[in-house]
Amino acid sequence: MFESSDFSSGAIHVVERLQDRGFDAYVVGGAVRDLLLGKKPKDFDVATNATPEQIKRCFRSARIIGRRFQIVHVRSGRDIIEVTTFRGHHDTEGSDPAAQASQSGRLLRDNVYGSLDDDARRRDLTINALYYDTTAHALIDKMNGQADVTARVIRIIGTPADRYREDPVRMLRVLRFAARLKFEIEPSTRNAIAETGILLRDIPSARLFDEWLKLFMNGFSAPAFALLREHDLLKHLMGDGINVANHASAARQLQHQAMTDTDHRVAEDRPVTPAFLLAALLWPAAERRAGELMARGESALQAMHIAGQQIVQETCQHLAIPKRFSFAMRDIWDLQPRLERRPPKKIKDLLAHRWFRAAFDLRLLREASSEVNDECSAFWNAQQLQYPELVGSKRGRHESESRRRSRPRRRKPAS
Ligand code: ATP
Ligand code: MG
Repeated sequence: MFESSDFSSGAIHVVERLQDRGFDAYVVGGAVRDLLLGKKPKDFDVATNATPEQIKRCFRSARIIGRRFQIVHVRSGRDIIEVTTFRGHHDTEGSDPAAQASQSGRLLRDNVYGSLDDDARRRDLTINALYYDTTAHALIDKMNGQADVTARVIRIIGTPADRYREDPVRMLRVLRFAARLKFEIEPSTRNAIAETGILLRDIPSARLFDEWLKLFMNGFSAPAFALLREHDLLKHLMGDGINVANHASAARQLQHQAMTDTDHRVAEDRPVTPAFLLAALLWPAAERRAGELMARGESALQAMHIAGQQIVQETCQHLAIPKRFSFAMRDIWDLQPRLERRPPKKIKDLLAHRWFRAAFDLRLLREASSEVNDECSAFWNAQQLQYPELVGSKRGRHESESRRRSRPRRRKPAS
């Protein structure tokens, strides 16, 4: 059904080696789904009945990673193939140390192994529970995933509320795949989110930030945001600050424009940084807070500075924004009143600021959403034309060693 050339040589090698040693092994998940959709998979995951230790013994370059969910990374050339052992049922009531659940039913460890059938049932979505044997060229479809791919439906396997309780991040995955693939969400999969959305509060903020990156930095942030808003998950993901814009159409427009711009850049494979998008999405909150502080007598610059600190701190209760990004967000915000003032002696300094370009882009968004007039951007436009080599030339005070490394890996949009 698929050609061998549809798979990376690494994936085929891993499957063959495991099969040669007597194990079952299949390419599974996103890659099979994407191939059915006629898209080029971005990476390949393999599922097998070999345990992590057994997998490790098959490959020199294998490394076991993860605790909550052990997986093995096998390096093959430039590829890394993620190999997982079939997961089984667990008795989370018992004392089995391989499976532990929190009070709300959330799985804290999930290392009970099982059969292929068990493994298929433990996956999140029917469209992600497809297995392909690259040697026999056989598709194994235990959960009717192929029909859902054809019908373009996102459907949770099992009882949605139970599956969300086991792992609330599945709610974000449902919305992510719906946004990315432009699929409909099956009604019971969708409806259960209202009941369990609040459980996202228990998810470690670092894992939420990982999910945030997948939702917002891959070329479909605008539709993802719309779905998150519709299901009222934004506040659990990003805190209350994100909803400040709900009450002002200019602010909503600014957020929307920031996302569509980011999505276009991703589509064109131009660089994007989470710092800019976060600064834009939370600008309405930062601006309002600064206004409140000014009303209490703070200067414009000081008010912006304190507001930035507070909004970042509040957002980080939910989302573990790495410092290199949160410092940049605050710089972008701090620059807003400074750009506005255009102090003659500081023009070149401001132009050279590491985050000048991002701050200028935020200013443009503010003007386009007609919050402020466009004299300011016209002025800075002229300055940039006059001193092009200065723009962003100064490494910022919080500049980390490498600018490249601070960016998430970009990938071509899925659609
Ligand atoms: P992508 O193209 O984004 O990588 P993917 O489907 O491969 O999509 P991964 O996050 O790489 O998604 O996960 C690999 C597979 O593991 C999924 O296809 C799914 O079957 C399973 N999986 C991942 N996360 C969960 C989860 N939280 N609960 C259940 N199954 C999951
Ligand atoms: Mg994957």
